[in-house]
Amino acid sequence: NTSLHELDPEIAAAVDAELDRQQSTLEMIASENFAPLAVMEAQGSVLTNKYAEGYPGRRYYGGCEHVDVAEQIAIDRIKELFGAEYANVQPHSGASANQAALFALAQPGDTILGLDLAHGGHLTHGMRLNFSGKQFDVVAYHVDEAGLVDMAEVERLAKEHRPKVIIAGWSAYPRQLDFAEFRRIADEVEAYLWVDMAHFAGLVAAGLHPNPVEHAHVVTSTTHKTLGGPRGGIILAKKEFAKKLNSSVFPGFQGGPLEHVIAAKAVSFKVAASEEFKERQRRTVEGARVLAERLTAPDAREAGVNVLSGGTDVHLILVDLRESELDGQQAEDRLHEVGITVNRNAVPNDPRPPMVTSGLRIGTPALATRGFTAEDFAEVADVIAETLKAPSPFGAAEAEALKARVQALAGKHPLYPGLNK
Ligand code: PLP
Repeated sequence: NTSLHELDPEIAAAVDAELDRQQSTLEMIASENFAPLAVMEAQGSVLTNKYAEGYPGRRYYGGCEHVDVAEQIAIDRIKELFGAEYANVQPHSGASANQAALFALAQPGDTILGLDLAHGGHLTHGMRLNFSGKQFDVVAYHVDEAGLVDMAEVERLAKEHRPKVIIAGWSAYPRQLDFAEFRRIADEVEAYLWVDMAHFAGLVAAGLHPNPVEHAHVVTSTTHKTLGGPRGGIILAKKEFAKKLNSSVFPGFQGGPLEHVIAAKAVSFKVAASEEFKERQRRTVEGARVLAERLTAPDAREAGVNVLSGGTDVHLILVDLRESELDGQQAEDRLHEVGITVNRNAVPNDPRPPMVTSGLRIGTPALATRGFTAEDFAEVADVIAETLKAPSPFGAAEAEALKARVQALAGKHPLYPGLNK
């Protein structure tokens, strides 16, 4: 019964320091969010002790009557949330969900068609060093000069290579995809359409983004990005894929499911069906629009700061620094100095190397969860614009003044106030 602080002060100190970092800085990594306390409570529960290989009602272990209840609730809630015929809530992560989905739809050596990593795709969509790139024959599509997915290229490549699976989804793209058009192309070449909605699932749940479940054979997602739950993955599909997908997850790639995480997923799905969640997603999208407006204003453009595709329809923007004297690394470091966390990101045809890049990915989900309004996002956008426009070297006094504004915003919207020891 010893507490973490008593048993392991070193780890307790790291956890406390991370809480302080999350509370005192502005988290704008587009793939991050803050899970509600109730979600963390479920995740930190006794369910972590239980083995439950199999699925509800069909387990390979005894004593599963209570985890069965929790897992079935998670399944029912996520099916309802997205209007899906089938759901699997066991994947440990987004990458695990993608691996299970891909191997259920195709065999190693088959051709897959996905968005190039450097143009906003994800590692699991065919990157060379990932299982998807190593075990499948990968063809990649791209964004055009305007920064939009080139559907003519998708169709041309699909007809030329006749992939088994076409992947629609992204990690760094500020616009909505045309799922109906992807499906039309997939049907034309007899391919499966797999949509990876990891980034925008929360927007879909709130009705602010087209629902891929209506168009795709299989849809995967993470549960911790815009969806705002615990770290993890899910798979949704038409009923006909149920058997294949279930056996691909277990015993194909995983052993015992993480029932404590599954219970936490269930709690987050309940939250995602609420009005409060919808209102939060509206602030998320609105905040990204405010950022895009500020970072495409004439003074930003003059300083070489711009936004890919000219704006956003989702929860993130991609800052284009190709014309700026600052590269992606320097911009990320400067924002870190004033207390804003973002990640650098390659822009299409980036002239700078991948470890440096000429772009930033900036997202609003975590701050919207903290309660930020459009007005707060306007102040955040001003701080970011001033930080990026400032000539080099970035003066200490200037950094301090900007940091004070960041701290004022953080203070206005306290995070996890009950958690400080
Ligand atoms: N799919 C997409 C589109 C993602 O952006 C990510 C994460 O960045 C993943 C899958 C992988 O999720 P995880 O990090 O949980 O494996």
